[in-house]
Amino acid sequence: MAKSKASANPLMDAIVAVCKRRGFIFQSSEIYGGYNGFFDFGPLGVELKKNIKDAWWKDMVHRREDIEGLDSSIIMSPKIWVASGHVGGFSDPMVDCKVSKMRYRADQLFYAPVIVDGEKVGYVSILEDGNMQADAEAAAEKMKRKGGHQGELAPIELKEYTEADESEWALIPSPATGEPGSLTAPREFNLMFETKVGALSDSSAVAYLRPETAQGIFANYKNVVDTGRVKIPFGIAQIGKAFRNEITPKNFIFRSREFEQMEIEYFVSPDGDWSEIHQDWIKYCHDWLISVGLPEEMLGRDVHEKLAHYAKACTDITFQFPFGEQELWGIAARGDFDLTQHAEHSGKPMEIFDETAKKKYIPHVIEPSLGVDRLLLALLTAAYTEDEVGGEKRTVMKFHPRIAPYKVAVLPLLKNKPELVGRARSIFEKLSRRYNVFWDTAGAIGKRYRRQDEAGTPWCVTIDFDTIEKDGTVTLRDRDTTEQKRISEEELYKFLDESLF
Ligand code: ATP
Repeated sequence: MAKSKASANPLMDAIVAVCKRRGFIFQSSEIYGGYNGFFDFGPLGVELKKNIKDAWWKDMVHRREDIEGLDSSIIMSPKIWVASGHVGGFSDPMVDCKVSKMRYRADQLFYAPVIVDGEKVGYVSILEDGNMQADAEAAAEKMKRKGGHQGELAPIELKEYTEADESEWALIPSPATGEPGSLTAPREFNLMFETKVGALSDSSAVAYLRPETAQGIFANYKNVVDTGRVKIPFGIAQIGKAFRNEITPKNFIFRSREFEQMEIEYFVSPDGDWSEIHQDWIKYCHDWLISVGLPEEMLGRDVHEKLAHYAKACTDITFQFPFGEQELWGIAARGDFDLTQHAEHSGKPMEIFDETAKKKYIPHVIEPSLGVDRLLLALLTAAYTEDEVGGEKRTVMKFHPRIAPYKVAVLPLLKNKPELVGRARSIFEKLSRRYNVFWDTAGAIGKRYRRQDEAGTPWCVTIDFDTIEKDGTVTLRDRDTTEQKRISEEELYKFLDESLF
């Protein structure tokens, strides 16, 4: 896995371990030593991811009459990325360590000037982490031990890269070596992956893997408007891969180089109260996260004070990841910046005729933008539980049933009794027409329950001799409470139907 703070984080380590052990997520290209910033989703992970996307699509597109879906191409005309500003400005400040050849994002590199007896004697660098103050103190201690400075090591003041000038960078120790003198001053590094399209290999062939799905929506806005199905306010939603050559991919799938986004551009009248619609979206997204299983107390909000020049407002919904509170879902009010840019660069009109207001205008836009992988990590974090049942420790993934990879497992009590297996199989066949159902005959029943607990399967159905010889009832076992009750087959179908839709 990516080398990161995760290794000093027991919860993160446990989540990464269960992901690998149970086949949720693997490091990409693992047999060749891995490939930093890329991940593969195994049998359980692919189901989890699909359920996340399906739940979002159902609630954002199918259940809302004002939002239409779209699937645009990953590689589009490079002119789109010039118009959107990505070719000119989609970059992060990067510093290189000349000794270790490691690269860092300068805006994630925090350092503390160490002041001894009122004089600055050097710096300690601190990679950003949830616990800044503790880090600063630990770093100061380290400095004291190494340099043997006398006197007060105070005050330790944390600074961001923008405050340091070039000569100061030479004094900042590299996080790789712990010594000053090897870091370069920050340079802007464009995050878009370049590729070449067509047979020519000159600069005219250069194209980009999209760094966001949003521009595919803006580029198709006119097509959707011209099909005549939409009236202001309306949205266009898209789910798809995005690629960013992140300088420091880290924290497992939180920041990777290939990821998926679920984005909506919601077009509104420039005359209305965009700020109210923005607030409505923030609430709507917050409530939706709770509906798929994130606990409200793990969610927060970060209202941006520093805004990009085109943005009117931006609020992130944050989540308490194992490595600290971080952005999960960005909800930005972008004004008419993007459509105006595309109108100018393409020469095509981007106005819409508003029948209610009886006039034409370029609409403004609210953009809720959510990373599938980041939400998946949040759901894994919220679901991960260790508890004890009957004196035995277990790991249980308490996924919301809507998100759980398997909805139910069907388990004949004994595998060498054809009458049990046959009856169980007929129940499995019926259920698997509607849901993703796991079939397991291997091992003691307690062990099989534990396996499903770790996979996050909300219910197990066990078929035993009472099922075939007595009353036809099956045992329904609940993942979270481990309670078991006997119910008839008809009651089972009804129960699952009501619980899963
Ligand atoms: P950051 O400042 O952390 O790099 P950003 O603010 O540029 O991120 P946006 O461009 O707003 O991120 O992207 C929208 C959403 O896409 C984010 O809220 C996040 O859920 C997801 N996302 C962005 N970058 C990544 C990444 N490298 N890996 C995984 N998900 C990402």
